[in-house]
Amino acid sequence: MTGRPDGRSVIVTGAGSGIGRAAALAFATQGDRVVLADLDAQGAEAAVQEIERAGGTAVAVAGDLSEQAVVDRVTATALERFGGIDVLVNNAGIMDRMSALADVSDAEWERVLRVNLTAPFLLTRAVLPHMLAAGRGAVVNTASEAGLRGSAAGAAYTASKHGVVGLTKNLAVMYRGRGIRANAICPGGTQTAISVDVEQGAHGPAALGPHFVNLGRVSQPEEQAAAIVFLASESASNINGAILPVDDGWSAV
Ligand code: NAD
Repeated sequence: MTGRPDGRSVIVTGAGSGIGRAAALAFATQGDRVVLADLDAQGAEAAVQEIERAGGTAVAVAGDLSEQAVVDRVTATALERFGGIDVLVNNAGIMDRMSALADVSDAEWERVLRVNLTAPFLLTRAVLPHMLAAGRGAVVNTASEAGLRGSAAGAAYTASKHGVVGLTKNLAVMYRGRGIRANAICPGGTQTAISVDVEQGAHGPAALGPHFVNLGRVSQPEEQAAAIVFLASESASNINGAILPVDDGWSAV
């Protein structure tokens, strides 16, 4: 790893697994210092150790990001350890049971919305004042193919990911001209714990239905991470409010 002395301070949520883990490794590889936030303490700690073995700088924060106290701990850790927050990647998410609306329980609806949409809102709200004070900051949200169309998942997940798209666009518009950029990626099927669960039917039989016609090639987490790192970079300095499918053309069908 290059260990750039001016490496940015980056928060990645859901960094204990899949896309978030790949993004955390990619940021660290280019010399950024990374806070890895995840419900899964072991996963986050293992990723931190991998980064440190390669000469990078990272710290894990374990907890449920839908809780304000955990959000505050993540924010405080980035400020105390790395002196600011340059990049926030709201990536942690959970799948629903791929149920049609009438079959969604209150508990499932509230949990999926809380983790996928409210947690990014809470963390962005906590981080934003520090980015505004510094006059710069990049937010990258992981939405989904289900944030673009109605047929990629169940009612709760689809609503939550459309919400992430809206949150991203609103942030981009409300804070443009103040050094803040906000963009989102919309992964198609990606080889992670979530997609393995879907394939194995853990999210209900709808996963075996017509939803995944024309899915395209399943992507690797590193391909999603590359898009996240790009949107957070200076190379994307004029890209703001963009919703980028990373899906082998699934959304173009
Ligand atoms: P993953 O299950 O490998 O990783 C998700 C991580 O988020 C896990 O480490 C999990 O512990 C963490 N997490 C879940 N709830 C949390 C909470 N309340 N607080 C803190 N951490 C929490 O799955 P992934 O595919 O890497 O998912 C990353 C993102 O990509 C999600 O937002 C998901 O919706 C989105 N996505 C995935 C796919 C796909 O096919 N894998 C497709 C589209 C979108």
